[in-house]
Amino acid sequence: MKAAVITEFNAPWQIRDIPRVRPAAGQVAIRVRASGMCGTDVHVHRGLFPLQPPFVAGHEATGEIVEVGPGVTEFQVGDRVGVFWNQKGCGRCEVCQAGRPDRCAEEQTWMQTGGGNSEFMVAWASGCALLPDGVSFEDAAPIFCAGFTVMSGLRNASPVPGERVAVLGVGGLGHLAIQFAKAVGLETVAITSQADKRQELKALGADEVVLAGDDPGAALSAAGGADIVLSTTNSARHISSAFRGLRPGGRLINMGLADGPITIEPMTLMFGQRELRGSTQDERADLREALVHLAQGRVKPLIETYPLEQVNAARERLESGKARYRVVLQHAT
Ligand SMILES: [Zn+2]
Ligand SMILES: [Zn+2]
Repeated sequence: MKAAVITEFNAPWQIRDIPRVRPAAGQVAIRVRASGMCGTDVHVHRGLFPLQPPFVAGHEATGEIVEVGPGVTEFQVGDRVGVFWNQKGCGRCEVCQAGRPDRCAEEQTWMQTGGGNSEFMVAWASGCALLPDGVSFEDAAPIFCAGFTVMSGLRNASPVPGERVAVLGVGGLGHLAIQFAKAVGLETVAITSQADKRQELKALGADEVVLAGDDPGAALSAAGGADIVLSTTNSARHISSAFRGLRPGGRLINMGLADGPITIEPMTLMFGQRELRGSTQDERADLREALVHLAQGRVKPLIETYPLEQVNAARERLESGKARYRVVLQHAT
């Protein structure tokens, strides 16, 4: 099978023919049709994950099941599925026994099974979800990391009707966060430093676009503040600043891997009982909700597609920060 193999960190990925993967008990084999690229893939490229080359990355893959391993009862050949990050826990530890295998220290992810930048992949059946009818593989792929992450972020903010949500960092995650917040009926504010994005962000569903330089919190406060900030930026400084844009009772949900410590002023935290919460892909129901919004047309990822063979151009585009908004690799049928 053809695959984009990382043979060395910080070096071009190699398109190679490698042995076709077969599912073990509890796994399925998938003919990959689309594979989204994520900021995490840049970290992987740079060697920040505990992996030794050669390996195949890709944790936003969708495709068709071509083979089911022994013991798999919930899926069959021909099913259209996507694969998410935390596929399976050990089953026996405290968190697994408490029903949260996604929090298991021995979780199974693409790092154990192999990623989706490949003609075929295997995944644990417990790490797959059916695609709703009518959604394309390309549109669905980004839902399996970016979409799932921000849907969980929004749910973890416990929004109530009438609240105002601000999205900080409008990239692969943020452009979906705007759409999800709007889809569930909340007033939505996009915070950006790029004036030329204003029309695009309004078209995505932002009721208001706040232009901010280096102090998004001050700009947000001047614009009336927010009950919820969904933060997808990696800038610890901007996250710290944005916290000051929260209204009393406000919650900042941090989904980006901050580039340093986040500084919170004790008075801002204490008076007004504001909250800072970290959030990743959480309840399985959040993924389903994100897929339903996609299927019903309330949300649509804006993607740039590249054939698998152009994986390096795709990665460079992602690294440039210019991708609008998600890069998705397409696989020949
Ligand atoms: Zn990701
Ligand atoms: Zn476990």
